[in-house]
Amino acid sequence: MNGRIHQAVAVPAGIGISLSQTPGQPLFGRMVEAAGAGCGASFGARLPDWWDPPNGPDHRSWAHSLSLAVAGTAVAGASLSDIQQHLRTQAASHAQMAQWATDPIIRFWHTFCEWFYLFVSGCLVGLAAGYGSHLVLGAFTPRSLPFIA
Ligand SMILES: [Zn+2]
Repeated sequence: MNGRIHQAVAVPAGIGISLSQTPGQPLFGRMVEAAGAGCGASFGARLPDWWDPPNGPDHRSWAHSLSLAVAGTAVAGASLSDIQQHLRTQAASHAQMAQWATDPIIRFWHTFCEWFYLFVSGCLVGLAAGYGSHLVLGAFTPRSLPFIA
């Protein structure tokens, strides 16, 4: 399946999942996370074909396998929200420090850190969504996916 289709599915999926995770949060922070998710999804959707090149003899090997998909979903489901919570806590504490800062350079630095943590939080969920969407699209082709490799 060509990369453009993978991107066209992965990026909106990543952004959509990110937005669905952040209702009630400040709009600008949600947008930063969603931008991170779009970038992460774009990258995540490329990973399976980097590891199993489409023109190589092993296309749809382990990086496209159902066993990896199941393991990845389990790990992501168990740890992703904790990691994201940690990143959002970091972002919130930098937002607080930015408000307290009197020096504009210090304020800029804390604002940058706040956005960075939110962006990374979005990136992680986007990465998982992008990788997952690549495998879901592959599963619905005639060749489907291998169980292990
Ligand atoms: Zn592929």
